[in-house]
Amino acid sequence: MDNDNYCNTGEMPGKGRYCCNNCKVCLELDNIDKCPPCPNCGNTDFQKIPKYF
Ligand SMILES: [Zn+2]
Repeated sequence: MDNDNYCNTGEMPGKGRYCCNNCKVCLELDNIDKCPPCPNCGNTDFQKIPKYF
């Protein structure tokens, strides 16, 4: 229903925490950051953790 909770490498999804869909490593991005490839496995698909304060 809500595809805004996903991001791919090269996008700027905004501030928040994103976890690799492959190995579950989490990244923290700021508003100006582009989503990098996963530093652990190189995956390009991430899921946003919806409640991050
Ligand atoms: Zn990974």
